[in-house]
Amino acid sequence: MVKVVKFGGSSLASADQFKKVGNIIRSDESRRFVVPSAPGKRFKEDTKVTDMLYKCYAEAEAGKAFDKQLKAIEDRYNEIIKGLGLKLSLKENFETIRKNFEAKAGEDYAASRGEYLNGIVMANYLGYEFVDAATVVCFDKNGEFDAEKTNKTMAARLKGVEKAVIPGFYGAMPNGTVKTFSRGGSDVTGSIVARAIKADIYENWTDVSGFMVADPRIVENPKSIDIITYRELRELSYMGASVLHESAIFPVRKEGIPINIRNTNAPEDKGTMIVETTCNRPDCIITGVAGKKGFVSISIDKDMMNSEIGFGRKVLQVFEDNGISFEHMPSGIDTMTVFVHQDEFVEKEQKVLAELHRAVSPDSIDLESDLALIAVVGRGMKNNSGIAANIFSALAKAKINIKMIDQGSSELNIIIGVRNRYFEDAIKTIYGVFIPESK
Ligand code: ASP
Repeated sequence: MVKVVKFGGSSLASADQFKKVGNIIRSDESRRFVVPSAPGKRFKEDTKVTDMLYKCYAEAEAGKAFDKQLKAIEDRYNEIIKGLGLKLSLKENFETIRKNFEAKAGEDYAASRGEYLNGIVMANYLGYEFVDAATVVCFDKNGEFDAEKTNKTMAARLKGVEKAVIPGFYGAMPNGTVKTFSRGGSDVTGSIVARAIKADIYENWTDVSGFMVADPRIVENPKSIDIITYRELRELSYMGASVLHESAIFPVRKEGIPINIRNTNAPEDKGTMIVETTCNRPDCIITGVAGKKGFVSISIDKDMMNSEIGFGRKVLQVFEDNGISFEHMPSGIDTMTVFVHQDEFVEKEQKVLAELHRAVSPDSIDLESDLALIAVVGRGMKNNSGIAANIFSALAKAKINIKMIDQGSSELNIIIGVRNRYFEDAIKTIYGVFIPESK
C-alpha cells in the first residue's frame, strides 16, 4: 500500500503542528510521499507565509527595501526549525532568494518559496528525500499546466524512490521559470503525485474533518459527509463548498484513486472519502447543500420563440461575445432565462441588452438582480420520489419564494434560485428537511 499525504498550511504553521504531522506520518509506513504547503496561520490574525512572500516581493519589484520583510519570513522558518530541534540552516537559501528578488525573478517564484523551504524543513525532519517540484511539475511555455508531461516526468523521477517530500503549489516552464497553480494549489500537487506513483489513496490533511452537509457558518453543527463521489463534489465545490482546490480531483480521477480528507488536529476522525463511485447510500438522501449569492436573471420573452430555430444559440452568442459565462438557463415555451454572475454582468448590462435586441428582437426583456442559487446535491436522489416536493413545501412553509428550479436529468442535483436575502434561511430549511433532528 502506498499513500500520498498532503498537509495544508495550518497543519504546518508551527513546530507543534509539524510534530503532529510527524506522528501521523510515522504511524503508517505506507505514508511514503509527502506534499507540504507553506506555513499557514498560527492564530486567527496571523499571516500566511505565502502572503508574506507576495507582499515582500511587491516591495522588491517596486525597488523598495525588503530586507525586514524577508527577515520576518526567515524567522518563521527558524522558529519551526528550532522548535523541532533540527540542525538545519536556511541561511544560504535566503541569500539566494534575496538575490533573486533583487533580480525580479517574478511573483510566482516568490510565492513558491514558501512551499520550497517548507519542503526542505519537512524532508530534514522526516529523513525523506527532497524532490524540488520545479523538476517534476511541468507547465508549458504559455504557463499552462502540462498534465501528461508532468505525469511522465514525475513517475520516472519517483521510480525506485522509497520516501520523498515534494513541495506543493508550483512547478516550472520549459525555460526553468517557476510557475504556481492558483491559490490553494498544493492540493493539486498532491493529486498529481498520487497519479504518477499510482498511489492507493491520496490523503489530504487539513484543519477540518472533511466536508459537511452544509456550510457550518449557516447551519449550526452540520453533519459531516462520510463518502462523496467526484461528481457530487464538483457540484458542491462549484457552489461554494471549499475544502479542496477544485482542480485537485482531475489527476487522481484519471487513475480512480480515492481522496481522503483528514484532520491533522483530530487524526482519529475518519474524514470524508471522495470516490469515483460507490454503492454506499448517504443515510439522509442528500449528500450536501451549498450555494452562492450574487446572480442576475435575464428573462427574454417572445411569442412563438419555440418555433424559431437558432433562438437559443443567438442569445448565448451575445453572452459569449461579451465574455460572460452563463450559469443556468431554465426555459418555457415563449421565454428563456439566463442566469449570470452579477459582477460579470453589471458593467456590460446595457451593451448586452442592446445586442440581445439586435440578435433576436424579443417582445420584452426582464432583469432581476440579487439572486442566490442553491444546489441540493446527492446520488441518493436518483429514483427517489418526492424529494423536490419535500424541498418546495418546506420552503413554502418558511415563506421563501422560489425564483427558479432546475433539475439535471442525471438527478444528481436540484438547483433552486431565491432572493439573496433568503439564502441562509433557505439553506437551513433544506438541511432541516433531510436531517430532521436538526430542526
Ligand atoms: N501556500 C499556497 C497558498 O496559500 C498554496 C497552498 O497552500 O496550497 O495558497
